[in-house]
Amino acid sequence: MEHNPSLHTLIYNLDLGRTKPDTVHRDASYCPFCDVAHLKNIMETRGHMIWLENAYPVLKDSWQTLIIESDDCDGEFCEYTPDYATKLIDFGLEKWQQVKEMGRFRSVVFYRNHGYMSGGTIHHPHSQIVGFENYDYHDDIKLYHLLGTPIIEEDGLEINLSTRPIIGFYEVNLILENKEKLPEFVRYMQLVAHYFIHDFVWRNESYNIFFYDFPGDSRLFVKIVPRFLTNPLYVGYMIAQVANKGHQQRVIEKLRTILSERK
Ligand SMILES: [Zn+2]
Repeated sequence: MEHNPSLHTLIYNLDLGRTKPDTVHRDASYCPFCDVAHLKNIMETRGHMIWLENAYPVLKDSWQTLIIESDDCDGEFCEYTPDYATKLIDFGLEKWQQVKEMGRFRSVVFYRNHGYMSGGTIHHPHSQIVGFENYDYHDDIKLYHLLGTPIIEEDGLEINLSTRPIIGFYEVNLILENKEKLPEFVRYMQLVAHYFIHDFVWRNESYNIFFYDFPGDSRLFVKIVPRFLTNPLYVGYMIAQVANKGHQQRVIEKLRTILSERK
């Protein structure tokens, strides 16, 4: 497909962004997501989960929405009970689908941030669902970015380590084929996230979770990426790096052990 470069750059309103509350990098004590009574433009509430429009729509030609995940400001996805985590992801998938079905957007992304290096500014656990009017992420993200060396293969789901990561080093992909297995799938997501913030090879407290789907493919794809300073070869030359085989093998085996103890 022909790339139109002008559609591959999102305009971020930094003047508005500067006014955003930041409870991650600044020591701001006021959390807008705890102050539920003053939230505006709520679209749906399910228990303590709230889907609403982002009060700071910094991205041009986009529709930015958020899911506040819990009423616990210090809550964390990998610490939710498996049942709560499944209900949360189920809610998010439903809203993601709903935004896609609006037909207004070239593509819709669904992702969450955790930690200082993840790009998030509000500590309170939340996910983002954003519709892009002019940009289709499938122009840049291909199925091969979600494939890799198998870590776990079960009937209806697969977990692998990217062999062609987007940005580099360790990207764990989870592929759900059978929607009935969502509870197991979400439990694996929690365990991978927990591994990245507690047991990974270097100290790391940040990660992202990204959701993808591909036209004509009914599977759900999730990528979990530990975050640290982006390597300069990527910043300067878009070279994604992977770890040497021996290192990879140790990470795969450790993860396989952790994931196999799921039940
Ligand atoms: Zn809060």
